[in-house]
Amino acid sequence: MTKTDMKVFEELESEVRSYCRSFPTVFTKAKGYKMWDEAGKEYIDFFSGAGALNYGHNDPYMKEKLVEYILSDGVTHSLDMATAPKAEFLETFNNVILKPRNMEYKIMFPGPTGTNTVESALKLARKATGRTDIISFTNGFHGMTIGSLSVTGNSFKRKGAGVPLQHVVTMPYDNFVSDSLDDLEYLERFLEDRGSGVAIPAAMILETVQGEGGINAARFEWLQRIEAICKRWDILLIVDDVQAGVGRTGTFFSFEQAGIKPDIICLSKSIGGYGTPLAITLIRPDLDIWDPGEHNGTFRGNNHAFVTATAALSYWKDDTLERNVQEKAKVIKATLQKLVDMYPEMKGEVRGRGFMAGVASEIEGFASKVTAEAFQRGLIMETSGPEDEVFKLFPPINIDDEGLEKGLHILEESVKSVVG
Ligand code: PMP
Repeated sequence: MTKTDMKVFEELESEVRSYCRSFPTVFTKAKGYKMWDEAGKEYIDFFSGAGALNYGHNDPYMKEKLVEYILSDGVTHSLDMATAPKAEFLETFNNVILKPRNMEYKIMFPGPTGTNTVESALKLARKATGRTDIISFTNGFHGMTIGSLSVTGNSFKRKGAGVPLQHVVTMPYDNFVSDSLDDLEYLERFLEDRGSGVAIPAAMILETVQGEGGINAARFEWLQRIEAICKRWDILLIVDDVQAGVGRTGTFFSFEQAGIKPDIICLSKSIGGYGTPLAITLIRPDLDIWDPGEHNGTFRGNNHAFVTATAALSYWKDDTLERNVQEKAKVIKATLQKLVDMYPEMKGEVRGRGFMAGVASEIEGFASKVTAEAFQRGLIMETSGPEDEVFKLFPPINIDDEGLEKGLHILEESVKSVVG
């Protein structure tokens, strides 16, 4: 029996609440890839806390470390003072993630969430170059504060700002117009045309796979050409790996596979490991030009999050997670392709990379019907894309065969039922 009255949300919470609407139940318990609601119904989680729970729910090792820290009366406030958990995180991140990839970056704590890392990246790029404009891409999503929203390519979300969002030029993302149009040639001409009065931008910001914008995966060649254009024009390349990072696409950083090296990298969501809020901005060392206090904030680097984040990094000492995603992504892709072929009525297209997968349907409302049906049958998934045209599969990166099979089976049954 449900104990919590859902009316509380309707009556007391702001109208802007969103997931309460698409997942109309009260969840009480979660473990790994499973969640349970108050009525005891079990769900398979292909949502992963919108990307904040890549390791699944309540990972036992992270939990042990967190409880140990709490029981030791470790410092709980988060103001950016020196603490042992912060030192341990910095060292572990450098040794386990950066060094083996031959990456040298300064690690900055911009605030607790994704929008904070993006905001800091935009500010720093402008300050470091002395330029104002930023190039962003159609259907990109970077956050909800004014700066990060200004580079977000979603008109519905932009309207929420209530003011014009300025100093940003939006260019077509890979394949936005068609795969035969060379949109990067257009971009280069645009930059070359000094007579046009268009200013050279401070930075370009992009996701290698657009999570909210419709699971659009940019081709590696496109990303490599973007990097070359940035180098040629001395424009900083900011990769927003808030959603596509931390193993989601099959490597720790999503851009590793394209062999590119951004100047600034934004990470949040699963970097805390346990759903603990944490964001980091990785900065090319020579761009680390802010004076102490020039960018600050009360919750810059939460000690509880440092403890779980360091514990999470213990899973990156070998390639187990990367292999899990790379191997199982093939199963996901094959299942989605089978569904698209089996049900031509849904006019579907398989999209994504790694464990960021989905099907875009040309039939209005189809993807939302599939996620609603899946929810009834015990699978948690969300939609993505400007028209909610994509049903999105986002399982934890450590999911086992059984969990994946169960989830995919529910998905297949849900699509079958919606097609009718
Ligand atoms: N960047 C990307 C790519 C995201 O997907 C998101 C969140 N969906 C953000 C930034 C903003 O993160 P947050 O919601 O934690 O502010």
